[in-house]
Amino acid sequence: MARTPVPTHWFNVNAAIPELYEPYVDPETNDPVTDQALEELFAPELVAQEVNRADTWLPIPEEVLRRLSTWRPTPLLRARGLEAALDTRCRILYKYEGASPIGSHKANSGVAQAYFTKRSGRDRVYAETGAGQWGSAISLGSAFNGLGCSVFMVGSSFDSKPSRRILMETFGSTVERSPTEHTDAGRSERARTPDSTGGLGLAIAEAVEATKADPAASYALGSAFGFVCLHQTIIGQELKDQLVDAGVEADVLISCIGGGSSFGGVIFPFLTDPPGRRPELIAAESNAVPKVTRGEFTYDHGDSSGLTPLIKMYTLGHKFAPPSIHSGGLRYHGLAPQVSKLINLGMGRAEAYAQLEIFDAATLFARTEGIVPAPEAAHGIAAACHYATKHRDEERTVVFCLTGHGFFDLPAYQTYLTGNMEDSDTPDDLIEKSLSGLSRVSGTRPTSLASGRDTAFAGWQRRHAGARTSPPRRGDRDSPAARAGATSPLGRVSRADGDRAASAADSTVTDLTGAQVVTERTLGGCAPDTTVIVVQPGAVLTPSARSELRRRGIAVRNNER
Ligand SMILES: *Cc1c(COP(=O)(O)O)cnc(C)c1O
Repeated sequence: MARTPVPTHWFNVNAAIPELYEPYVDPETNDPVTDQALEELFAPELVAQEVNRADTWLPIPEEVLRRLSTWRPTPLLRARGLEAALDTRCRILYKYEGASPIGSHKANSGVAQAYFTKRSGRDRVYAETGAGQWGSAISLGSAFNGLGCSVFMVGSSFDSKPSRRILMETFGSTVERSPTEHTDAGRSERARTPDSTGGLGLAIAEAVEATKADPAASYALGSAFGFVCLHQTIIGQELKDQLVDAGVEADVLISCIGGGSSFGGVIFPFLTDPPGRRPELIAAESNAVPKVTRGEFTYDHGDSSGLTPLIKMYTLGHKFAPPSIHSGGLRYHGLAPQVSKLINLGMGRAEAYAQLEIFDAATLFARTEGIVPAPEAAHGIAAACHYATKHRDEERTVVFCLTGHGFFDLPAYQTYLTGNMEDSDTPDDLIEKSLSGLSRVSGTRPTSLASGRDTAFAGWQRRHAGARTSPPRRGDRDSPAARAGATSPLGRVSRADGDRAASAADSTVTDLTGAQVVTERTLGGCAPDTTVIVVQPGAVLTPSARSELRRRGIAVRNNER
């Protein structure tokens, strides 16, 4: 493939498609926030990018372009091994953002934010980080630009993920375990809970407070805001060129969504294609943090302390405390406003995936393509596998963004491979509680701009109700399949468990030990009353096969030992 040049401009969707723009709102006045208020936190040039609705193309400064060019353009690769394993006629391509120095797309904005912050005359950034990915990106950018960088790292990650902290320190950053003694937010949390392990909302609150107290500093933000999505549009532009070079057109574009910056960056440049030629757009979210498939499209704060302006977006409520999952980068209650709006308008849709399904997809991808994906990125792989399986007899082109590699996530793989990973569930009770809290905030919701739930939302939900991947139903928990599935990904059921499942009086066992990869189609060949399948040691299940097993209540065991 010819080497695609790195794009020289960012694509500003606010100018290209003005109906996607919704201003941030000051909760006290109900008026759009002023640029000055945003400049308290961010460099003026970043604020100018955030509110620009006039220029579709914003030039990337020479210095930023030079840095980006050390790893860009990132490759667009064809997943032939995965295609063969899924037994599909679809062509599956992926854009590999794990090629950046820190292993994910977040570097694209880290480098740009550090540059504009330094150029505005400020000499320090404060940032929060959950699992450490954004902290790594802004540390990289700060190193490039001679900028001081202080990262508030969520206490539990600080304790359990030393590698990311060491990476940030290697780039010269100071990493603090949040809650700290340096801020009111941190001190009051420590007074309340002396052994607190923190949380993302608290780490944001600390970073914002530290920024406000330091006139020479800026706050750096890893996703969700418009300027972050803008910096990520370099991905989609390269992708467009690479597809032209390869002589193919995408039928569907897929990326996972945390705050939505990678998804926005991938798909925004395609939105101006003529409607008939525009690909389908799928945002893959975690079923544990289902902001689109279960949340509301309304005004809410971007952080759990309510410090940010109100943002019109899909949200689970800013007090929503996501369950612990191995995809830290997707544990965010909201979604970039432009991405939210386009989904609300029916231009794209979301699908939710459970943890075991995405690790099935990740493992299949590692074995067929050789790249170990970040668990977040594996949501995109699972969605691509589903699509390519559903349309297996059609020559469609499926393109997904592999947002990062999983070298820092190997302990999670270990948990999966040893059969100790729990599946994720949709926390209906938490969501209900959190959303009801949101409507109590409605006193501060800007009545002039929003009338609560969008009327278009209900219609959208009806249209897309079938698109949601159904979360595991509560009743499923006790079925042999759910038990086996929850404790034995890849069919590595312990002998005792397997025997118990197989010896159940009414079990019909189907031998699939001839298959290295078990697909939905393989299962189609099983007797309809099958209750147990036996697979070879280390066999891989495809995500669609996993769904099918769950639907049919079939248990898995292997013939190991
Ligand atoms: C942060 C992160 C995500 C989530 O990205 P958003 O742009 O916030 O949606 C996805 N994948 C990886 C590898 C990440 O680090």
